[in-house]
Amino acid sequence: MTMRELPDGEIAVLGLARSGTAVARLLLGEGRRVYASDGGTSAVVDANARLLRDLGARVDTGGHDVARIARAPLVVVSPGIPPSAPPIAAARDSRAPIVSEVEIALRLMPRTKVIAITGTNGKSTTTALIGHLLRGLGVNAADAGNIGTPVSEIALRQQHPEWLALEMSSFQLHDTPGLEPVVGVLTNLSPDHLDRYPTANDYYADKARLFCNASPDSRWILNADDRRVRVMETDVPGAKFHFSTRALADAWFDEPSSTLQLLGSQLLPRSELNLLGDHNVANALAAALAVAVADESFGSAESRLLISGALRTFNALAHRLEIVGEIDGVQWINDSKATNVSSSVVAVAGMRRPTILLLGGRHKGEPYTSLADPIRRTVKKIIAYGEAAPIIESELAGITEVERLGADFGEVMRRAHESARAGDAVLLSPACSSFDMFTNYEERGLRFRQLAMVK
Ligand code: ADP
Repeated sequence: MTMRELPDGEIAVLGLARSGTAVARLLLGEGRRVYASDGGTSAVVDANARLLRDLGARVDTGGHDVARIARAPLVVVSPGIPPSAPPIAAARDSRAPIVSEVEIALRLMPRTKVIAITGTNGKSTTTALIGHLLRGLGVNAADAGNIGTPVSEIALRQQHPEWLALEMSSFQLHDTPGLEPVVGVLTNLSPDHLDRYPTANDYYADKARLFCNASPDSRWILNADDRRVRVMETDVPGAKFHFSTRALADAWFDEPSSTLQLLGSQLLPRSELNLLGDHNVANALAAALAVAVADESFGSAESRLLISGALRTFNALAHRLEIVGEIDGVQWINDSKATNVSSSVVAVAGMRRPTILLLGGRHKGEPYTSLADPIRRTVKKIIAYGEAAPIIESELAGITEVERLGADFGEVMRRAHESARAGDAVLLSPACSSFDMFTNYEERGLRFRQLAMVK
């Protein structure tokens, strides 16, 4: 469906944060009528509301006109709004199509080629890597989607990029039925977001929507080491390329020589990849493979040199196993983005020093027991804090020392300073969301960074 085929009438946009505002501007720019609403109010929401009113939209903040939404022929939802929220329920009842801002924006960029990335963990890193590698090839490429920049902001630009590295969350996939990437990447699958999905299978079903328009021309980058991915890819049409950190594959890690290998030849020594943790080797392999097969010219020997050169200059994204600094022999590592148990498992497994682990925040429903093995190997103490602290304590107390604290992050950091000795690492890899104590994981990571540097 193209933009012209969008239904007539006033389109409802739910949520007035960054992506809702961008898509509303995009629709208004296309001459569409827009009703935009947000259940909350804040300085940002109010400023966005003013901007959209000036552009001719009808806007409500601090609540939604549910009857108006029910009359809309199309509803654009922000991924932050849960499906059970009354305005979405109203849209569902009226049987209007409900789509994401990504769906609208991609229709307005028909010539931009998309590499879409999803999976439980490693999406943002892999997306940023893919964008970086494409730019290393001299291609005009942008990174967008769940990584932070709404696709609508890219679509609002005068010039659209030739390529888009597009991170898709499960919620965005749910509402983007038109997604048809040149290359799709599935990094891995493990239970997540059990606070929003009734079961892990419902969550996986949304992830599987990456393949909803798969055709024989599609190209897929798949994790050979992940059994859930292997099951999901069965019966999906298209060319399949696999990456593995354990065994021979299209892109793989050769342990004896400690090198990353791509399509039959050496790509890069591990030591030249500036990222902590084995999971980041997987991310780099997935990204290099995705780019190498995206276009015939990207697979040439010359392109391969550019890809390995670009891998060397890629640095960890903020809040993802980011080394904040070393003070008095103690290394402080900010992995605030680890908001589920599986991402904390890989972080802890990658630790080489005796570690003080800061674990806690808002509980998302997953058990912490899968952390037990890596904790046994390197963690000398857990500081459990926030709403999840009692659950963490009861599940992990037998494994290593657990100190249980409340919701005062200053106290958490004070105790971390007091507990760490020269040669140790302090790792914030909370395995929980931040919303009980912070606005978001970025704020949590910034507080950690700030308090790590002052004793
Ligand atoms: P996402 O966007 O999917 O949340 P990120 O790239 O932002 O992923 O990384 C978030 C955290 O997830 C990292 O700090 C790390 O702990 C973990 N992680 C990253 N890549 C992987 C991977 N390939 N496998 C498992 N865990 C990973």
